[in-house]
Amino acid sequence: MSDSTTAYPYLLSPLDLGFTTLRNRVVMGSMHTGMEDKAEQFPELAAFYAERARGGVGLIITGGFAPTLEGTLYPRASKLTSRREVERHREVTDAVHAEGGKIALQILHAGRYSYHPLSVSASAIKAPITPFRPRALSERGIRRTIDGFAKTARLAREAGYDGVEIMGSEGYLINQFLAPRTNKRTDHWGGSPQNRRRFAVETVRTVREAVGPDFIIVYRISVLDLVEDGQTWDEVVDLAREIETAGATMLNLGIGWHEARVPTIVTSVPRAAFVAFAGRLKKDVSIPVVATNRINMPEIAEDILSRGDGDLVSMARPLLADPDWVRKAERDAGDEINTCIACNQACLDHTFQQQRASCLVNPRAGYETRLVLTPVTRAKKVAVVGAGPAGLACATALAERGHTVELFEAGEEIGGQFGIAMRIPGKEEFAETVRYFQGQLDRLGVKVHLRTYASAESIRSGAFDEVVVATGVEPRIPQIEGIDHPSVMTYAELVRGERRAGDRVAVVGAGGIGVDVSEFLTHLDSPTLDLDAWQEEWGVGDPAESRGGLRTPAPEPSPREVYLIQRKTSSIGRGLGKTTGWVHRAALKAKGVHLVTGAAYDRIDDDGLHLTVTTMRRGTPRGLQKVTSRLPGPVRQVLPRSITKVPQEVQKVEQVVLPVDTVVLCAGQESVRSLADELAAQGVRAHVIGGADVAAELDAKRAIRQGTELAARF
Ligand code: FAD
Ligand code: NAP
Ligand code: SF4
Repeated sequence: MSDSTTAYPYLLSPLDLGFTTLRNRVVMGSMHTGMEDKAEQFPELAAFYAERARGGVGLIITGGFAPTLEGTLYPRASKLTSRREVERHREVTDAVHAEGGKIALQILHAGRYSYHPLSVSASAIKAPITPFRPRALSERGIRRTIDGFAKTARLAREAGYDGVEIMGSEGYLINQFLAPRTNKRTDHWGGSPQNRRRFAVETVRTVREAVGPDFIIVYRISVLDLVEDGQTWDEVVDLAREIETAGATMLNLGIGWHEARVPTIVTSVPRAAFVAFAGRLKKDVSIPVVATNRINMPEIAEDILSRGDGDLVSMARPLLADPDWVRKAERDAGDEINTCIACNQACLDHTFQQQRASCLVNPRAGYETRLVLTPVTRAKKVAVVGAGPAGLACATALAERGHTVELFEAGEEIGGQFGIAMRIPGKEEFAETVRYFQGQLDRLGVKVHLRTYASAESIRSGAFDEVVVATGVEPRIPQIEGIDHPSVMTYAELVRGERRAGDRVAVVGAGGIGVDVSEFLTHLDSPTLDLDAWQEEWGVGDPAESRGGLRTPAPEPSPREVYLIQRKTSSIGRGLGKTTGWVHRAALKAKGVHLVTGAAYDRIDDDGLHLTVTTMRRGTPRGLQKVTSRLPGPVRQVLPRSITKVPQEVQKVEQVVLPVDTVVLCAGQESVRSLADELAAQGVRAHVIGGADVAAELDAKRAIRQGTELAARF
């Protein structure tokens, strides 16, 4: 434990590993940023890690690098297999060491999760999340793969890394050998638990032999697979013990395979939901254990360490959100941390779309050398109108650069639409962003005028050098007969608590907000963020009782009957985030929300909502037909008819009345542009950002980025 003058004595105490010492207990967990895949982006990767090392992180773990060509995540994805590739890594390791940090390279063999036809696994069983069936590794192939891990580790050492992390969780190759779900081998690499763990143990042993005793080897161990036919707790413990004997320096915990249907890191997962497993495992091994998943603030980390649920904590996304996280904890200024809200929108969703990872609340992440807030030589007097995410990001970034900023907000409080988002059950974390911006406004001396509607006249009278209009959006009111009926309300009225919903509710519009509002309506009016209830809802059990730690989900029934409606005939939730959409869809299903697609809104009256609903016969969506029609004839011939020819066609059209007592409008947004238009009419040049600029496809990611980028240019 470090000295007791700090609020976080456990978190900030050094860890002596015998041959080296970590300066504190914070591990930056592995995250693929996309920069690893391209040699020319290594200078930016180096700047990205250097900023986190400067921020005080104890040990950084890089994104995954494959030990063999077959093990890459997708074609041309990162690997470290030859001496030729070593040099570019030196730039990364030197940059981190110059800041007093330590860095380990993650070795990741994707196994059957490889998104290419060369994929290999323990057995030839296709993963539900890739189209490619893997080839089962032969005995020779297994030996060659283990040697590949050892070679990559040796190259990492040559490149100046302080260690490696061997990725043994999340359903990647090593995990595929460990679980009966994916290992059906009958040789000495499959069958009994001892045979199934042979690959993992041999890999660690061979890597240790290759790198010598004074090099960190972190083994990422899957303690809760969350898939059928995953491992049992006894198997996990036996594995941990053998991995320790084979030479690992520490165990970093992994939770859930990528194909698991239980969320493990999204914002609705309670904080520190899985750390008890670290505490349990710690009792069976003598090497340090790293607790992980949904740890984002120092007091949570301190709590985990002080009660013995781990020797270190791993965080990945929180260090994208705030590279100075550790320094702020050291200054006992946890309330200054820009907290990761676990939205995945700019990090994992980007990674899955092969875009560079960044952060919704910190658009500088991944762009450290490009988006720079340099101090100004001549301060300007700037008016920012609107304290939603766009205005808040712009005002605080301008003030950080040294400008004199006044922020005008018509409402009672800051946050704009984000202040509504944070009232949705499972989105409570969003309040942290509002808290962070409020603190920044105070610290940077931005003059905030709440309850102040800014008009063109009031802005002109302020004699500002620059004017930023961030007046955002308001709910669209669709043209439906009976829209003035007393049962109708906007999502803003409902969620802000200005109006109450009855027992049977129709939600008009099934975009991000319609889905959120449905979650709001299907939860009790005052939900509690309770870990036990969350585990029941998603069927998270104990691997000591059932393989993989799964049990039958038992969600709390919805207090209301909810219909979620859209005009499109496509399935609901298509536009939601890549890594979060499935969670929302599963939650709606669990709560029994009725999904209505292909609806035309006829009228609203005392009987409820009248619709004409068109049901389409299942067929190939036109977009897919267009794609397949461009393929060469021989290829088209071997494709199933269902994806080349069958058109979507109308099956039936019917008139229905939903007998609802409440209609909530979630039919998109309109820009609030009156101020921008008035200023333009009076010849005042203003910068328009966020929803005021364009309402379509607006989200907080775009709003914050636009605000920050504008501020960087002044
Ligand atoms: P706004 O948030 O609309 O802010 C504009 C502000 O300007 C308001 O506070 C308004 O009062 C003020 N204003 C307007 N005119 C004046 C004037 N003349 N004078 C003074 N003040 C004025 N986004 C995501 O990225 N991820 C999510 O998960 C997500 N979930 C959401 C869930 C819900 C339920 C809702 C409602 C929104 C959600 N959003 C989400 C959307 C996100 O909140 C918006 O995209 C974002 O708030 C837009 O930011 P903005 O600053 O452009 O506008
Ligand atoms: P949205 O996603 O564009 O959805 C608007 C919905 O309204 C659509 O379902 C649309 O579907 C319907 N609609 C549009 N015009 C209509 C009309 N005239 N009459 C009836 N229905 C109409 O927008 P949003 O739900 O308002 O969300 C705003 C932004 O917040 C989104 O861009 C989103 O990115 C962000 N957000 C994100 C999340 C997240 O989890 N990432 C969550 C909430 C919000 P039809 O046209 O088919 O009816
Ligand atoms: Fe966290 Fe969202 Fe930023 Fe990702 S994008 S690091 S989840 S706040």
